[in-house]
Amino acid sequence: MAQFKLQNVEDFYEIGEILGSGHFGQVRELKERAGGTVWAGKFVKLRRSVSSRLGVERKNVEREVEILQSLQHVNIIALHDVFESRAEIVLVVELIRGGELFDFIAAKENVTENEAIDFLKQILKGVGFMHSKQIAHFDLKPENIMLSDKNAEHPEIKIIDFGLAHRFNAGEEYKSLCGTPQYIAPEVINYEPLSVATDMWSIGVITYILLSGISPFQGETDEETLRSIVDMKYDFDEHYFSQTSDIAKDFIEKLLVKDQSERMTAEECLLHPWIKPLTRKQAANRSRSSINMKNFKKFNARRKWKMSYNMVWACNRLCRLQLLCKKTVEDEELRSCESDQEDTETKPASLIRRRLSSSS
Ligand code: ATP
Repeated sequence: MAQFKLQNVEDFYEIGEILGSGHFGQVRELKERAGGTVWAGKFVKLRRSVSSRLGVERKNVEREVEILQSLQHVNIIALHDVFESRAEIVLVVELIRGGELFDFIAAKENVTENEAIDFLKQILKGVGFMHSKQIAHFDLKPENIMLSDKNAEHPEIKIIDFGLAHRFNAGEEYKSLCGTPQYIAPEVINYEPLSVATDMWSIGVITYILLSGISPFQGETDEETLRSIVDMKYDFDEHYFSQTSDIAKDFIEKLLVKDQSERMTAEECLLHPWIKPLTRKQAANRSRSSINMKNFKKFNARRKWKMSYNMVWACNRLCRLQLLCKKTVEDEELRSCESDQEDTETKPASLIRRRLSSSS
């Protein structure tokens, strides 16, 4: 079992403003008492008992820490220190000041494919590095792609949230029902063995959205979305893709491939002519083509709205669960609390979002 520092994090850092929230805790600014360097602290609540539904199992946080320790790359968030108390573990990580890549892009008037490729290249380099270490992220989505400093001339991409990441051992078969419906690959939904190629599907979806402002498989409900993914039902509607180059579409098509072994790897992506043009004509096409900004802004606004809605919903649910726990309710009551409206309405999706996994 990994040993983390048992001292109180507050003896070493001053806890500052909230930077963000996740399913299992908050991310807050941390100022080092000695020296004044500012970091970010991810406060992860630990599960108190096997039967509890709140918090994260210690072994899962250990896995996230172990993975972060082995990933030192400019495009991947860096882990600095880890503290542990009875109730929570605090991951002290580099502070990322630039916000999410999608918010940065949505604030612009016009973005050419060239500019989008600059960011994509960095994502591919970070992902390629983790894949070279047999580590898959399994939750690549816009919320987990941030920028170190949005005012820099060339803002640096930082991939965050390794809470679902997994390191493959030789010959290991790993299945998981984790992820976010819009971005998950068919093998996740079908509960088939996963691989690092599962991340490459998500990169295909992210690129599709980045260029068009629509999500390739998005349905009216999460069930519909999951069905479209399994059926590979997507196209390049001219209404949204009129400004997109053919070579960019080719890039996406080589990622949204059902067979994992046929999908482009991160290394192959970096050599694709859309990313690394072979001719002047290909290079010129990239700078003439641009992101569908009007639609991208709409997509991003809807995404942000949904994120805050989900957060309010999660808080309400947490409060209810905590109230119930205080009253030491029977299992029966807890179960009925779990199956509240949103869960029953979007059953397959709620199943997908749960951090369930099996390894054999
Ligand atoms: P989720 O529930 O989405 O899996 P999580 O509990 O694993 O989330 P993170 O995704 O790591 O937590 O962080 C939650 C949010 O906090 C992020 O979306 C981001 O806005 C913010 N955040 C995370 N890490 C940093 C950082 N190093 N610097 C600044 N903000 C951060």
